[in-house]
Amino acid sequence: MAVQKMVTASLKKYELPPLPYAPDALEPHISKEQLSLHHDKHHQGYVTGANANLEKLEKARQEGVDLDMKALLKELSFNIGGHVLHSLFWPGMAPTGTGGGTPGGALADLIDREWGSFDRFKSEFSKAAISTEGSGWAALAYCTITDRPMIMQIEKHSNNVFPSFPVLMVLDVWEHAYYVDYKNNRSQFVDAFWNVVNWDEVGRRAEKI
Ligand code: MN
Repeated sequence: MAVQKMVTASLKKYELPPLPYAPDALEPHISKEQLSLHHDKHHQGYVTGANANLEKLEKARQEGVDLDMKALLKELSFNIGGHVLHSLFWPGMAPTGTGGGTPGGALADLIDREWGSFDRFKSEFSKAAISTEGSGWAALAYCTITDRPMIMQIEKHSNNVFPSFPVLMVLDVWEHAYYVDYKNNRSQFVDAFWNVVNWDEVGRRAEKI
C-alpha cells in the first residue's frame, strides 16, 4: 500500500474471523468442544488482547504519559502473532472426508523436490510439531532468499519466526489445541491433524507467493 493510501485508510481493529466450517466438521479428529473452546475463547482472547494493547497505546499518546514500552510491545506481538497464526490455522484444515491425504499438483512437486518424498516431509513436520518446546507451532514456510520451502518451529507465537517468510501451513501445538481430545498426548493430535489438513488451501497460499 502506498504511504498516501495509509494516511487515508480507515483505522481498523483486529477481528475474530468465523470458522470456515461448522464446529463439529473436524470430528472425530478434533471435537466440537475442543474446536469451539479453541476458536471462541483462545483465539478471541488474542484478538481482544491486541485491541486492548492498541487502546492502551492510543490512550497514553492522547494523555501524553509514558508506558512500559518493552512490556507492552511484547504483549502486543504475542497477541498479534496469536491472531495471525490462528487465522492461518482454521482455513488450513478442511471438514473430515474432504481434507487430509496428500497434496497434488505443483505443491506436491515442490515438497518432493525439497524433501525427496511426501512421507519424509510429513515425518519432519510432525517431529518439529511434537518437539516444539513448551507452547508453540510448527509451520511450513517459504524462504524468499533461497526460493525453497522450509519448516519453522515457532515458540509461543513469535519466537524463531523468520521475518517476511510467507507461511503456507501451521499446526498449533499449544496444549489448549488438543487437551480436551488428547489430554497431554501431543503426538496423537499431530497424527490426527494429517487427516484434516487442507492441501488445496496450502497450495493456494503457495501460488500467491
Ligand atoms: Mn491456539
